[in-house]
Amino acid sequence: MNKNQTISISDDTIFKLKILAEEKESVRRKLIVTAEKLRLKAKQLAITAEEKESVRRKLAITAEKLVATAKEKESVRRELVITAKKLRLKAKQLAVTAKEKESVRRKLAITAGKLKKSRETLERKVIERTKSLEMARAKEEAILLSIGDGLIATDEKGQIILINKTAEKLLEKQSKDVMGKIFSETILLEDEYGTTIPLDKHPVSMALLGNKISTKNIADTIYHARKDKSRFPLAIMVTPVTLEKKVIGTIKVFRDITNEHQIDRAKTEFVSLASHQLRTPLSTVSWYTEMLLEGNIGCLNEKQKKYLTEVYRGNQRMIELVNALLDVSRLELGTFTIEPKPVDIVKLAKSVIHEQTPQMDYRKIKFSFLPEKIPIIDADPKLIRMIVQNILSNAIKYTPEGGKVEASISLADKKNIIFKVSDSGYGIPKNQQDKIFTKLFRADNVREKDTDGTGLGLYIVKSVVENSGGKIWFESTREKPGTTFFVTLPIKRIISE
Ligand code: ADP
Repeated sequence: MNKNQTISISDDTIFKLKILAEEKESVRRKLIVTAEKLRLKAKQLAITAEEKESVRRKLAITAEKLVATAKEKESVRRELVITAKKLRLKAKQLAVTAKEKESVRRKLAITAGKLKKSRETLERKVIERTKSLEMARAKEEAILLSIGDGLIATDEKGQIILINKTAEKLLEKQSKDVMGKIFSETILLEDEYGTTIPLDKHPVSMALLGNKISTKNIADTIYHARKDKSRFPLAIMVTPVTLEKKVIGTIKVFRDITNEHQIDRAKTEFVSLASHQLRTPLSTVSWYTEMLLEGNIGCLNEKQKKYLTEVYRGNQRMIELVNALLDVSRLELGTFTIEPKPVDIVKLAKSVIHEQTPQMDYRKIKFSFLPEKIPIIDADPKLIRMIVQNILSNAIKYTPEGGKVEASISLADKKNIIFKVSDSGYGIPKNQQDKIFTKLFRADNVREKDTDGTGLGLYIVKSVVENSGGKIWFESTREKPGTTFFVTLPIKRIISE
């Protein structure tokens, strides 16, 4: 249809169209509203979407963080696992250590218990022992303090730590005055001649060096001087007290031997008297037998001569013995007369050797004498003869047939001469050597050999030599057969005051 064409539309249709249009308008409006609503909704949705996005992002971030945290947690967890493992191990070890410790603790507890027990036992024992020691000590002290001999104990410095009643009485000293003082300075001793015994020779000083000292091994008698200057002889015995080989003190036991001395003197006087009395009849026997043997009274047959010779020899031996006993008593009584004069000891020795030559020849002894040039000495020729004779005759007597004896005299030093006699004889047994210079002693080995002798010769010789300021000693060892005697004598003054 074209534009100029007119269409006739009824009113109804127009009305209808109007209503339709109105309906359409209403629908359009509704649609607009709905569209608006939808836009709003969309907006809201958009906002919500944005929010959601932001939430999502946040969530993503949080998720990331969570992942990281989870990772950390995982690593921490792993570490924790390791640590837990370690801890478990440690715990195990600790458990073992704890067990061990527990066992050690138990053992320690047992040991401690035992220790406690033994300490208690020990304490009990110590108490008991101390008690018994104290009792023993008290007993010993009571014994020591009350014994009849004088007793003084010193410590290792020689200081007096104990003195008994007898010692106090004998020495006229009070315990309180001497306790703690040096023994050798407090209790002075004297020799035979009244000379104070020097400190180093004091028996206590010698005992502190570890030697046991008794009067037996001291040559001279020891005296103690009282306040009133009177003195008394002492028999002493000083013993070192040792602990683990160290001297920790000394004990000196002593007694007054005035009585023994008096008895000894009386004995010596008796021996002297008896010897004197014996000399006369012995000399008579000697003269008459000599006369009979010489045939002055008439001839004797061989048998009579033989027997009479035995009588004569026996009598001679008896005379020798009596003379020796007389010498001993003179020496002991101090009545030995000494007449010093210048002596040519070599000449004197030669004369003694000459006298002994028959005996040496009889026993086929090879003898040599080697004198050096020595000065004249100041001595009693009678005593020098006695010394030389004794030593030489012993050497000959105690050497078997065919043996060797050598004698010599020389200068020992500027002030002394030395007389030496060596033999190849029987020697002197080691276990008897310390007794050789004692009175009446004869060694077993020579007694067995049936040799004559009195056992007095060397005792007299030693006394004479020492009184003359000389010394005598000998050597006799297993390695070398025989014996060598040495005698030194001072050149100047051989007789002591
Ligand atoms: P004795 O009269 O017995 O010879 P001595 O006093 O002279 O007395 O000697 C004492 C002891 O010493 C002797 O009996 C002997 O045992 C021993 N004796 C002395 N000199 C010698 C020596 N040269 N060889 C071996 N023993 C000796």
